[in-house]
Amino acid sequence: MTTRSNSLAQADLATALHPYTDARAHEQRGPLIIERGEGVRVFDSEGRDYIEAMSGLWSVALGFSEERLVKAATAQMEKLPYYHSFTHKAHEPSIRLGEKLVEMAPEGLTRVFFTNSGSEANDTVIKMVWFMNNALGRPKKKKFLARTKGYHGITIASGSLTGLPNNHRDFDLPAIPVVHLTCPHHYRFGHEGESEQDFAKRLIAEAEETILREDPDTIAAFIGEPLMGAGGVMPPPEGYWDGIAALCKKYDILLVADEVINGFGRLGTTFGCQKYGFTPDILVTSKQLTSSYLPLAAILFSEKVYDAIADNTHTIGTFGHGYTATGHPVATAVGLENLAIIEERDLVGNAARMGERLQEGLAILKDHPLVGEVRGEGLIAGVELVADKAKKTPFDPIGKVGTRAFEIGHEEGLIIRNAGDTLALCPPLIVTEEDVDAILARLTRIIDRTW
Ligand code: PLP
Repeated sequence: MTTRSNSLAQADLATALHPYTDARAHEQRGPLIIERGEGVRVFDSEGRDYIEAMSGLWSVALGFSEERLVKAATAQMEKLPYYHSFTHKAHEPSIRLGEKLVEMAPEGLTRVFFTNSGSEANDTVIKMVWFMNNALGRPKKKKFLARTKGYHGITIASGSLTGLPNNHRDFDLPAIPVVHLTCPHHYRFGHEGESEQDFAKRLIAEAEETILREDPDTIAAFIGEPLMGAGGVMPPPEGYWDGIAALCKKYDILLVADEVINGFGRLGTTFGCQKYGFTPDILVTSKQLTSSYLPLAAILFSEKVYDAIADNTHTIGTFGHGYTATGHPVATAVGLENLAIIEERDLVGNAARMGERLQEGLAILKDHPLVGEVRGEGLIAGVELVADKAKKTPFDPIGKVGTRAFEIGHEEGLIIRNAGDTLALCPPLIVTEEDVDAILARLTRIIDRTW
């Protein structure tokens, strides 16, 4: 923690309301002011260094000092710092990035729309799907299926898709028609003695019953993260995505993969849907798209969705949606360079190799008395701490112990996050074997000290 006498800390305490922060606790604790970054490390205003094992917010693929991204931004700033894409305007960086994304995307995703954040991207998806169904003359087909513990953002609409109580309670959400299905996390929601495959089958049956109960003619789309991230790092049970994809096809429901965390190598494959063998109609990306050096998100979608919107704009009106900064030239130039570096350095391959080392190292923690479950894929992992290992009993209140571990992390020089009592790791894709080993050693000390 930065000392409270530091004048910058005083100014923060005097003025700021921090996102996702207990404001009164912040007044007592003070801010941790991060001053600079170097590779996978960041340094605070007191000169202490930390391994950033969360890539900031699951996003800084290239680490915190990639010169080429700085140069790409500077060059674009000097040439054309801003232009928009409304009413037939275009500029080279957003065209080139769109082309690159389509080249990288799973088959059939041939169209792109840019926004500034994952939340705006999911709002845009909702509006595209609604617009499309109005254009197709089926105005009742508007509901979304999502999952509890899913995370899709915090705006009024994307926050409605999110399935976490904190994002709904006291914000009067959901505010759009959404049905949340059971979270596909076997450890927490599987029945006693139920295999992963049987658990997946039960959830697929639940989804089908829900579709029939609600009426398929009212269900527009199913949205899910291939591997659930912010809700607690939860890979799907075997067979889950096959079943969900088949249901979507059967009932003419669009399948939306929210790859804001999964996308661009996090799981050791370019996209999460490739890891689990399904092809969505719409795929949402952000975060690692620019390594978060600048805000940017991209929605990839099929020709079927594009045509329904394009063919009908003359009958129901222009697609009246877009942001001042949609496809911002500096952000898209940085995105293009970022994706070039990921390819040149084979960082998706590195994520697979380092991910294996990380997951193997974490598996040792399974025997720790405080650890209920260790889970993950590639360079994303969760370690769930429990009060009673045999009974899987959570701590009461949930999150108190996880928050303690998060704080001890700072003392141990490791930045992690806690989703309740699950400790999350999501290091930059550039991590080396030495970095992974240091993360494992520090995490083990944190858990030992938390106990
Ligand atoms: N979707 C997913 C899967 C996310 O993890 C997030 C953010 O963590 C979002 C959407 C929202 O993105 P943003 O914070 O850029 O609005």
